[in-house]
Amino acid sequence: MIEQTAWKAAFDVIASLEEHGYEAVIVGGAVRDSLRGHQANDVDVATNAVPEEVKTVFKRTADVGIAHGTVLVIHPLSPVEVTTYRTEGTYQDHRRPDQVNFVSSLAEDLKRRDFTINAMAMTGHQEIIDLFGGKEDIQNGVIRAVGEPVERFKEDALRMLRAIRFSSQLGFKIEKATFQAISKQAQDIHFIAIERIKAEFDKIFTSEHPEKAIQNIQQSGLAKFLPGDFDQQSAIWEKFRASKESWKGWALFCLLQPSQDIEVLRAYKCSNYEKKQVENILIAYQLLTSTGWTKKDYFTFDIEVLTIAYEFSRVLGKTVFEPKSKLEIEHIKSNLAIQHKSDLVITGHDLLKWSSKKSGPWLKETLDQILIEILENRLLNERQQIKEWYLNELTH
Ligand code: ATP
Ligand code: MG
Repeated sequence: MIEQTAWKAAFDVIASLEEHGYEAVIVGGAVRDSLRGHQANDVDVATNAVPEEVKTVFKRTADVGIAHGTVLVIHPLSPVEVTTYRTEGTYQDHRRPDQVNFVSSLAEDLKRRDFTINAMAMTGHQEIIDLFGGKEDIQNGVIRAVGEPVERFKEDALRMLRAIRFSSQLGFKIEKATFQAISKQAQDIHFIAIERIKAEFDKIFTSEHPEKAIQNIQQSGLAKFLPGDFDQQSAIWEKFRASKESWKGWALFCLLQPSQDIEVLRAYKCSNYEKKQVENILIAYQLLTSTGWTKKDYFTFDIEVLTIAYEFSRVLGKTVFEPKSKLEIEHIKSNLAIQHKSDLVITGHDLLKWSSKKSGPWLKETLDQILIEILENRLLNERQQIKEWYLNELTH
């Protein structure tokens, strides 16, 4: 539904621009995704009107990317990004330039786009403008550079990783000459900021076919110029089921590193939250596949972490004796004698009173011990019982 309103808003915007004598079309991912019969992320409009002209046509606009020729039109149904036809001027350092040149023809705008499947336009009458065979490439599941692939990757090295990311999102193969050009220019990837590389990996790790990306990264030789190890991974990635959050993918990537730790996440500048989540999954995984989980482990890790660690033990073919399913994990966890530390009926205060000892590290250790006794069902979470257990412990 959200998508329907975005299309409706975009068609309205096109109609308004046309009424004022300008040309306007839908471009990029939305055209590609509609031809594939998939939902589009966003529906972008391109026009021969320059930003100042766009702003005179609509009452409400916001300058979101004026430097790139983009004006956000605030349509009541959905905001629409309207970008003036442009080329990208000169490329320095193999990155997309900040400066752009406005041009008057749609054909020139389409020519600077990366892949044939991304270089189509749709008119207000829903006619497809396809100058480079994008439709056919969609039908055949092919990612092909617009123009001379080596030149296009020399201009902007990120396009190599974008090709690979689209291969994993769409399940398409990369056309031969385009793939060879990636092999040839692979080392140029070092010109690209790691944040932008990471953003592509986030998309790969939340896509349907990460195994395609991992395989392409390895076989093209791009792996040599990216942090981390990509060897022999694609068969394992085939069994990976992505979630909305990319850290699940980052966790498997870490697990497949020779060091099996989160070191590689630093190189990709992952967030502290991502690092923490991945670290928990790795610890839960190591425990599960070495000794198995104690009740304390079920208590400590949240259900998502436990489930993912379990999934990875299956993906990597490790035999574990318990649990036997995700359902069993949920069952064991929800049936723990207590769910939170605060559910304990006693506190450190009580221990101090009962023992007449001075405070110290022993307090936390004893509380932990009590927690384990309760979780293992050897002790009830009741004041009197805990006191007896404790006084008995003291005399031993
Ligand atoms: P998504 O669904 O992931 O948003 P998209 O195709 O919309 O996919 P964007 O990154 O949003 O991808 O870019 C929008 C369009 O701009 C692309 O379809 C492509 O035509 C063009 N484009 C984006 N990045 C580049 C680039 N580095 N080089 C050339 N063209 C690009
Ligand atoms: Mg997009």
